[in-house]
Amino acid sequence: MSTTDLVDPFGRTVRDLRISITDRCNFRCRYCMPAEGMTWVPRDELLSFEEIERFARVCVRHFGFDGIRLTGGEPTVRAHLPKLVERLSTLGVDLALTTNGATLRNQARALADAGLKRINISLDSLKRDRFFELTRRDELGKVLEGIDAALEVGLSPVKLNVVMMRGINDDEAVDFSRFGREKGVMVRFIEFMPLDAGGEWSMDRVVPAEEIVESINAALPIEPIVRNNEPAERFRFVDGVGEVGVIASVTRPFCDNCDRVRLTAEGMFRTCLFAHREFDMRRTLRSTSTDEELITAITEAVGTKWAGHSIGEVHFIQPARGMSQIGG
Ligand code: SAM
Ligand code: SF4
Repeated sequence: MSTTDLVDPFGRTVRDLRISITDRCNFRCRYCMPAEGMTWVPRDELLSFEEIERFARVCVRHFGFDGIRLTGGEPTVRAHLPKLVERLSTLGVDLALTTNGATLRNQARALADAGLKRINISLDSLKRDRFFELTRRDELGKVLEGIDAALEVGLSPVKLNVVMMRGINDDEAVDFSRFGREKGVMVRFIEFMPLDAGGEWSMDRVVPAEEIVESINAALPIEPIVRNNEPAERFRFVDGVGEVGVIASVTRPFCDNCDRVRLTAEGMFRTCLFAHREFDMRRTLRSTSTDEELITAITEAVGTKWAGHSIGEVHFIQPARGMSQIGG
């Protein structure tokens, strides 16, 4: 079946959809959510699985999207997640999930059976006390079990997302690299972005990707892998065992190659993590049963995609929503 490319005003073809399926979370990471949590979206305002599938189907079948990632909040707290995975896996695209991993030891098998192939697990410290301080949950053990469960059921690749923050976990790059090599998981260090609900972000809290690469290289020599159009800059260990990546969203933004759009749990469409404008796709989904209006609404929204964010510049304004409401 032929598809129509969804091209933004800067000539970038949009092909990657990130869907937040809930804004709720069992963790309260300091760089993402306040200790008391947020005001959760009422359940009837969340997109249903049918609505999510319909939206995703239009993106894939009409616009030729080739990647869908489920995120949140914490996607594994949404009931019957494997049923959604099963529905989306029939679309035949690269389907992925980003999770904090805490419930994976119970869910990994069902997710793999439903058709999930790969997974990203977020983990910012391998030290129990520090993990507790960062997430406000004493659940490092559960996350480590979740990583093992993901590997056991054959999800591949299993990637670890580590948000690096100055003075908090910036001494763990080498430990994480060793951990990744031992486990056979790919660790990706992410620069801290101004999307925290607690207002803790400042430029001096960002650990530049370059510094992370240097510190790893000093202990465990690495060399770059030729980069495709992906956000992560990848490096292989010179001894041939494993690789690491850095995502320099702040110091070396990859906006020129951005092919992403996002849908929040209540169906608001966003063309950038840092966008201020949202498009109400839930209203469109609920007001019409044909896909024409949806196609028009998506096309119009992508027509407003901007060239890129301007973190660190004077005119940068942090969006009203935090990362847990947008979906990372
Ligand atoms: N709850 C899931 C998790 O933690 O993986 C999925 C949602 S979470 C918002 C998605 C990703 O965003 C996680 O890898 C998390 O570490 C990352 N993240 C959250 N706040 C961030 C921030 N201020 N800067 C950079 N990454 C952030
Ligand atoms: Fe929850 Fe993920 Fe945000 Fe942590 S980063 S509070 S696990 S949504």
